[in-house]
Amino acid sequence: MPRPASTEAVLTIDLPAIVANWKDLALRGGPGAVAGVVKADAYGLGAAEVGRALRAAGCRHFFVAQLREGMALREAIGTGPMIAVLGGFRPGEDDDAGLTPVLNSLGDVAAHGAAGRADGVARRAILHVDTAMARLGLDAGELARVSQDHGLLAGLDLLYVMTHLACADEPAHPLNAAQAQRFAAACAGLPKTRRCFANSSGMFLGPAFASDLSRPGCALYGINPTPGQANPMRAVVRLDAPVLQVREIAPGTPVGYGASWTAARPTRVATVAVGYADGYLRSLSSRAAAECRGQPVPLIGRVSMDLTTFDVTDLPDIAPGDRLTLIGGSGCSPDDLAASAGTIGYEILTSLGARYHRDYLRG
Ligand SMILES: *Cc1c(COP(=O)(O)O)cnc(C)c1O
Repeated sequence: MPRPASTEAVLTIDLPAIVANWKDLALRGGPGAVAGVVKADAYGLGAAEVGRALRAAGCRHFFVAQLREGMALREAIGTGPMIAVLGGFRPGEDDDAGLTPVLNSLGDVAAHGAAGRADGVARRAILHVDTAMARLGLDAGELARVSQDHGLLAGLDLLYVMTHLACADEPAHPLNAAQAQRFAAACAGLPKTRRCFANSSGMFLGPAFASDLSRPGCALYGINPTPGQANPMRAVVRLDAPVLQVREIAPGTPVGYGASWTAARPTRVATVAVGYADGYLRSLSSRAAAECRGQPVPLIGRVSMDLTTFDVTDLPDIAPGDRLTLIGGSGCSPDDLAASAGTIGYEILTSLGARYHRDYLRG
C-alpha cells in the first residue's frame, strides 16, 4: 500500500478489533450462530476487507442490502458462506454468485418458488416476516395466507425465517417484547424452520431474543449496542488528519464561513485537511472536538468542504504536519460525534469519505 501523502488524512481500520467484536458477540449468541452484516460496504469500512477477515475467523453467514454488494462480496470471500441479500432480487439475477434472497413479500415467494419448481431444485431463501417495521417483509395478511397454505412455499428451501427489531436500542420499549411474541407466533404457523432474529442491540436484550442466527452490524464496527451504558465493544476506526497551517489570531477575529465563531482570546488556529466532503459532517461545526497528545482540541467555526479549523491554543507546539485525531480519540468516538451532530454512529461511519488514505490493521 502506498504511503499517505503528508497532507492526506489517514483512516485506520482495525480488522482484528472487528474480529474480536464478532467473537465476543458469538459467545453472547449462545448456541446460535452469528452472522456478519456487511451492507453499505461494511458500514463504510470496506466489505471486501471486513468480509475476508470475518470469514477467516469462521463467520459462515453474511448479510448485505443489495444485489451488487452481494456479488462483490462473493468475489471477495469465495464460495461457501451464505450471503443473504436483504433487499432481495429476482430469480437468476445473481448470475450464479450463489446469493440467498430475502423474500420480502408473497410476490417474492411466488417468483422464487416458481423458479425452484421449474428446474426441480428448491431455491434457498430466507423468509422475512414484518412484526413492526412496516417496511419490508410479509405483512400480517400475507403471513396468514402462507400459514393457511404451506403449498405457497413449494419450490423453496427456507434456510431461515427472519424479522427485524424496531426499538432494540431501547431495552424498555414495549415493542421489543411484542415483536418477540409476534415472531414466535409467526414461526408457529410456518413449517419448522430455523430462526434469524436479533441485530446488534437485540443480542443484549435477553434470552427471548436469541435465535439460530443473529445479525449484528454496528457492534462489529465498535458502535455501542447498549446506548446509555458503557460500550462493551472494541473501537475499530480512527481518523488522523494532518495540520496544514497554524496561525495566531487576535481577540475579535472571526474564523471560517459565516464568521460563525469569533476568538475571545489570543488563539492559535490549526487548519486540517478534512471537511464535509469527507463525511466529517457540517453539523459538527463548533460542536465537536478532536484529540491531540491526550488533550481535547475544540472544533471552531464551520466545517468546510475540504477543511476544518481547531483551537490549539492550549497545545503551543503544534505545527504543520502534526496530526489531530478527529475520530477515535477520547471524546470523539463515532458515537460521540454522532451525539454532537444530532445523528447516530451508523451515519458517521457510512458517511466516511473516499479521499482518506485507508490503512487496514491486520494484527
Ligand atoms: C442493518 C440491519 C441489521 C444490522 O443492524 P445493526 O443495528 O447494525 O446491528 C440487521 N438486520 C437487518 C434487517 C438490517 O437491515
